[in-house]
Amino acid sequence: MKYSDNKLVKLETKLDNEERISAAEALDLFETKDILGLGYLADKLRQKRAGDAVTFVGNYHICYSNICVHHCRYCTFRRNQQDPDAFILDLPTIEKAAKESKKSQCPEILILGGIHPGLDLEFALKVLKGIKRQVPQVKILGFSPVEIDHFCRLENMEEELVFSILKEAGLSAITGGGAEIFSPRIREQLGCTHKISGQRWLQIMEVAHRQGIFSNASLLYGVGETITERIEHLQAVREVQDRTGGFTHFLPFSCTLEHLPHTSGYDDIKMIAVSRIFLDNFKHIRAYWSHLGLPGAQLALSFGADDLNGLRQKGRIIHSSGGGTLKITDKETMIGLIRDAGRIPVERDILFNVIERYE
Ligand code: SF4
Repeated sequence: MKYSDNKLVKLETKLDNEERISAAEALDLFETKDILGLGYLADKLRQKRAGDAVTFVGNYHICYSNICVHHCRYCTFRRNQQDPDAFILDLPTIEKAAKESKKSQCPEILILGGIHPGLDLEFALKVLKGIKRQVPQVKILGFSPVEIDHFCRLENMEEELVFSILKEAGLSAITGGGAEIFSPRIREQLGCTHKISGQRWLQIMEVAHRQGIFSNASLLYGVGETITERIEHLQAVREVQDRTGGFTHFLPFSCTLEHLPHTSGYDDIKMIAVSRIFLDNFKHIRAYWSHLGLPGAQLALSFGADDLNGLRQKGRIIHSSGGGTLKITDKETMIGLIRDAGRIPVERDILFNVIERYE
């Protein structure tokens, strides 16, 4: 590869020797104008760490409530209790939805909700047990560290105990919600100061991983942060992963705020590529197609991404961070898109176990 940025030449040697890159070098990557060189480096590492497979998962969403006590500025999902379109699903409705999920043969159910002041651990247990009653074999992904912290406060319990109770009731993995960007400055601007801090998010994830409950890690960008703040976030996530190995994948995603411009395609692609290069202890990097659009996500596959996440089958779908272009796609579209990119489509489950390879 011929680079137009000499810094990339040195970095390639370092990466070939499996040396970890520093925060200063990550900054060089973000600042480079050699986008093709950056893509080459990221793609080479993708090939080494994840091979030619591009994974996706069919997931069925059940959103139990959109009522939330928080007021994150980017959230288009939350409602106050008195709003006409506020809802809480009752348990028979949740069980009915779980039963319906059998038709779509999804290997996982994703349960979502806001921080409802009255929905406690007992409610969460009923939801989990109700779903398992209907579809015992399904893996349940649900509850973010923000909800876990909420349960800890309501029940006056340590997170270890909360996790062991939820795991016993059927929880397989928790979501990465609430990470946003760890910078306290940006969290304040985003109106996230009333929910957990970045530090607390990381702490809860460590406890979850130690108890065998996996999760993803994410980064919300394009919200007024500096590149240094993005790198600090990546670094914090990398450190936890060094200790636990419990993050199944990393997904960067942007968000549009009314007073800020959209992130550019160039920025989006760089974010994927730098994530792949910097996060040397992550096997999987996800291109979030509902934010990048299908063409953008397809392009990201040449810049370090190896996962396209989910085919959302049904259920109440939320899109809490606003923006986004598409919300549902089908398996054939996903398979065709991956094949067009010269890669092998692989359907996976929540823990990245292979369900089917479409050679
Ligand atoms: S992002 Fe989550 S915590 Fe924040 S307001 Fe929306 S539902 Fe509530």
